[in-house]
Amino acid sequence: MDVLVKRDDLIHPVVSGNKWRKLKYIVEHANELGFTHLISMGGPHSNHLHALAYLGKQMGFRTTGIVRGHHKFLSPTLRDISEWGMDLEFVSRESFRELRTHRNYNAQPGLIRDGYWIPEGGYNPLALHGIADMVAELTEPYDIIVAPCGTGSTLAGMIRAVPVNTQVTGFSALKGDGYIEREVQALLAASGGPPKQGVEWCVTYDYHCGGFAKTKPELEEFVAQFESEFGFQVDPVYTGKMFYGLFDLIESNAFDRGSRIIAVHTGGLQGRRSE
Ligand SMILES: *Cc1c(COP(=O)(O)O)cnc(C)c1O
Repeated sequence: MDVLVKRDDLIHPVVSGNKWRKLKYIVEHANELGFTHLISMGGPHSNHLHALAYLGKQMGFRTTGIVRGHHKFLSPTLRDISEWGMDLEFVSRESFRELRTHRNYNAQPGLIRDGYWIPEGGYNPLALHGIADMVAELTEPYDIIVAPCGTGSTLAGMIRAVPVNTQVTGFSALKGDGYIEREVQALLAASGGPPKQGVEWCVTYDYHCGGFAKTKPELEEFVAQFESEFGFQVDPVYTGKMFYGLFDLIESNAFDRGSRIIAVHTGGLQGRRSE
């Protein structure tokens, strides 16, 4: 069985992978509406805030990042972010959870006015267009395409864009109970309805290894072995768990023999520094 890897970690030295894909059309929308200030939220190692801060600097937007928790020392991610000029606001875990309910660009969280609000992780129907660009770059035929999941936006974009008769599988990076499926359904509903006929999709929660950003010795061993065997890096939060799960499913014959599989390397390597 062949597994091809779409190396979206290589698209840019700083803003890699799906965070750039997701932000591209969101930022364009903000620009069209005349906003000059982008506001979003994330944890202290957030790939999303990291990409947003960099884009903001490159494209001349003021940016504000609302960060979960209070931190005595800045993580490497937050150090980059503040060097690039993003204003940081630290909030309690409770306030952070409350902020997650603000989903629209003009649903201001109350803390800051006059800005364009980007939900955590770039969860927005516009994100799907950027993921479609990634899918359009695939030149090899495939039956199955897999990616790691956090908010489900990347998965929704793939479900929307893949050709007929493709199976789309997401590997959840966090513990769940159908949460990602609900988020994916909502994004699909907000962007043109159900997927094409013959596009099947599912999410597996069997490989989160204890929860978001949690790990276990088997995963660490797998990642070390994987990197030395294949000669490229994965991140332990998302892509490491995806490959760990994918290899396990292949070994347990979960896929038809001869299936052509594409695994999307969604980037996120900057987060490795804070392991
Ligand atoms: C954010 C992120 C994901 C999750 O993407 P969603 O669209 O939120 O599901 C996957 N991989 C990497 C590397 C990420 O940074």
